[in-house]
Amino acid sequence: MKKENVLQQKIIALKQQKKAVIFAHYYQSPEIQEIADFVGDSLELSRKAAETDAKIIVFAGVYFMAETAKILNPTKIVIVPDINAGCSLADGCPPDKFRDFLKNYPNHKVVTYINCSAEIKTMSDYVCTSSNAVKVINAIPPEENIVFAPDKNLGKYLINETGRDMVLWEGSCVVHEAFSLEKLIDLYQKNPDAVIVAHPESEAHILKTAQYIGSTSGMINYIKASPKPKFIIATENGILHKMQQEVPHKILIPAPSKEDNTCACSECAFMKMNSLEKLYKCLLKESPEVLLAEELITKAQKPIQQMLKI
Ligand code: SF4
Repeated sequence: MKKENVLQQKIIALKQQKKAVIFAHYYQSPEIQEIADFVGDSLELSRKAAETDAKIIVFAGVYFMAETAKILNPTKIVIVPDINAGCSLADGCPPDKFRDFLKNYPNHKVVTYINCSAEIKTMSDYVCTSSNAVKVINAIPPEENIVFAPDKNLGKYLINETGRDMVLWEGSCVVHEAFSLEKLIDLYQKNPDAVIVAHPESEAHILKTAQYIGSTSGMINYIKASPKPKFIIATENGILHKMQQEVPHKILIPAPSKEDNTCACSECAFMKMNSLEKLYKCLLKESPEVLLAEELITKAQKPIQQMLKI
């Protein structure tokens, strides 16, 4: 039996013994997605975290996602395979700098994309994900001014979609900024029957080429419902595993990145810091654990609950 399969079986047995649940983001490697109890995008994972009655949540994603799970279900033990799995968006919005930035915009509603730290969430009126960002912005009365952080690309997309003039924090996702327009056009010319779908964290020139723009789960639903047989996917490469399971008869091609890497795609190095080995060890030792101060949890819960209400 392959080493990965042995580890997968050991994890499944340990998970049952410890009454744990494994949540994995779509951007995790296929071998982690295969043993997860639930695979989803940030919004779906937040909802599941709020509902679960498992004793332990093993969160295979990046740190801010595990923090969100802890905020939504503080009595649970939330553990992560690698505590250093960060995110360029969350790390590019340090709390002290954001606090100073907000001083320039008093009387603004603060909407933050879920890809930010718990401390940034405490400074927000609303949290949103790429699945519900348009709804959240539209739910804010038109006379209110808005600061949107930390993703400027998603922010620009939302300004276009909602017509709201928002102040944007200058953050971005390294993975979604890595797509090459030149290579994408070249790929499309070779596959003129393909439909380009893109995540709104991508840059505006990539979004202009897309026939569909949406969150990871939005893209999956779109491709499932579409009668077209071929798609070029502009988001993190890990999603192709789940998509291909959903539409085995369709051709899915990852959008090419600027770099000439081995996968000819864009992969999140932070997401890929997790491995089966690290996941097994963290479940065995119930560590590293996400530990947050009670006050931080209480304050960060408010804008997330606002989002879940909408
Ligand atoms: S893909 Fe981008 S936004 Fe998502 S975790 Fe990686 S760096 Fe962060």
